[in-house]
Amino acid sequence: MTTTNSHPSSDFIRNIIAEDLRINKNEGRVVTRFPPEPNGYLHIGHAKSICLNFGIASENKDGVCHMRFDDTNPSKEDIEYIESIKADVKWLGFDWGKHLYYASDYFDQLYEYAVQLIKKGKAYVCSLSLEEIKEYRGTLTEPGKDSPYRSRPVEENLDLFERMRAGEFEDGSHILRAKIDMASPNLNMRDPAIYRIRRMPHHRTGDKWCIYPMYDYTHCLSDSIEGITHSICTLEFEDHRPLYDWILDQLDVECHPQQIEFARLNLSYSIMSKRKLMKLVESGDVNGWDDPRMPTISGLRRRGYTPKSIRDFCERIGVAKKDSTVDVALLEHCVRQDLNQQTPRVMGVLRPLRVVIENYPEEQTEELEAINNPEDPGMGSREIPFSRMLYIEQEDFREDPPKKYFRLAPGREVRLRYAYYIKCVGVIKDEQTGEILELRCTYDPETRGGGSPDGRKVKATLHWVSAIHSLRAEVRLYDHLFLRANPDEVKDGGNFKAKLNPNSLEALTSCRVEPSLANAVPGSRYQFERQGYFCVDTQDSSDKTLVFNRTVTLRDTWAKIEKAMKNKPQ
Ligand code: ATP
Ligand code: MG
Repeated sequence: MTTTNSHPSSDFIRNIIAEDLRINKNEGRVVTRFPPEPNGYLHIGHAKSICLNFGIASENKDGVCHMRFDDTNPSKEDIEYIESIKADVKWLGFDWGKHLYYASDYFDQLYEYAVQLIKKGKAYVCSLSLEEIKEYRGTLTEPGKDSPYRSRPVEENLDLFERMRAGEFEDGSHILRAKIDMASPNLNMRDPAIYRIRRMPHHRTGDKWCIYPMYDYTHCLSDSIEGITHSICTLEFEDHRPLYDWILDQLDVECHPQQIEFARLNLSYSIMSKRKLMKLVESGDVNGWDDPRMPTISGLRRRGYTPKSIRDFCERIGVAKKDSTVDVALLEHCVRQDLNQQTPRVMGVLRPLRVVIENYPEEQTEELEAINNPEDPGMGSREIPFSRMLYIEQEDFREDPPKKYFRLAPGREVRLRYAYYIKCVGVIKDEQTGEILELRCTYDPETRGGGSPDGRKVKATLHWVSAIHSLRAEVRLYDHLFLRANPDEVKDGGNFKAKLNPNSLEALTSCRVEPSLANAVPGSRYQFERQGYFCVDTQDSSDKTLVFNRTVTLRDTWAKIEKAMKNKPQ
């Protein structure tokens, strides 16, 4: 088990485990598991579960966390998902060692257990149609009705179940059900299905099976087979716990893990469901599972998030028993904190405006020293070229500056970062459109490096690049994928796609970046001064066109929220 996480503060699950260890329950073993269904890519909600399960294992001596694919649903696309899930867990910094499992590896054993249940009179083959089963189930306020097949003799059940397995029946013609209590207030206990016929090959077991075990039945038994001590899951499984325990109680199993539920992560302006995320992928509303706007681990990675920032986020949100929604600003805060420490600063102009320094010699170029990371002197410095023609940001100039606008304006002097003071002496516009084409400026040679020997103050420092030395780049700016903080709200029919933000991606194609970025490798991260943190895109960036994704801006709304919370009287 390897993880670089420090020990997180305790929570109710860790307290339960500590107490179990104290009383030597499970002979001091701690075995958890992360059990994704390979039906999509992992999202940030899964990261919470991964950090919790692998985290707990790593904090305990000899603790182990199993990686288990819950692949009870036959389907052909699973392999891509399995590979992506493994890659994501590893990228997050966790290692299952030799403990990689598949629920489908237990199909033989699960079948044997089902035969045992039948023999004990605890399961029966039901031949009602799906419609009828639904009808017989009752509602939250009304008890269900017994199936007419409930009293089938054991021998008949054994015979039918075997023939189900042998492929004698059509899909849906029979199911195997646990015989519990059709009047139970808990609907999960009203004779739930444990096996169904599905004549479909499975990506691991091929054509061997045409009956497949249901999730609830498979999950508790897989946990038991693997000797899991603590089976940690999300709150929606609380009502399934009686069934989890019932199945293990009926069978002669050596290990009966404890199921513990915690609140799932919900994130504002986001959705946490593989099924819904899949819809966005399939409809082309996003460009694949790893679209940098997606809340998937692969999307966050491509966007420039670091594993450390995600682990840090998961630690800060903690583990509780009550559902809540976490502000996405906290996730952004976490990545900013990490990137602030580790990224080199560079200059990049997103929307260039040409500046000509009239008193700077035509053919001259000079190299100026720029600090790579003021947070970390060890990162050293670099040289950036300065010449007569530069680019600055369009928004850093106003012909008619409003009050409190301190950046460049006609007649005004500002500092160019690491370079000189410059003063605007002219504006060249397109005669027809009035668009500003170029600024004419002068520089003060005495201010080299950005300071003035006569103590003259300027109120703004701008980033810039030298026109002829700079590189062209595409920069992709991202906004929330959804317009609403809660796009999943049921009260508007759960129509999450209607709330997609049409402006969640803005691609700027004529950006200019400093020449040191010529060797920027895909995946590398930078702070563009004053613009935020950026990551070289791993799919679309090439030697010909540099493509950067903005991971996050510099502005920190979370820091503001935190400050406001501190100032509020308790
Ligand atoms: P989805 O609806 O996105 O498919 P799921 O719960 O069906 O989610 P699984 O693949 O079954 O997805 O999940 C694997 C593990 O991750 C489970 O233990 C599940 O409880 C946990 N998990 C899933 N979503 C979240 C979430 N939003 N917050 C915390 N844990 C989660
Ligand atoms: Mg699922």
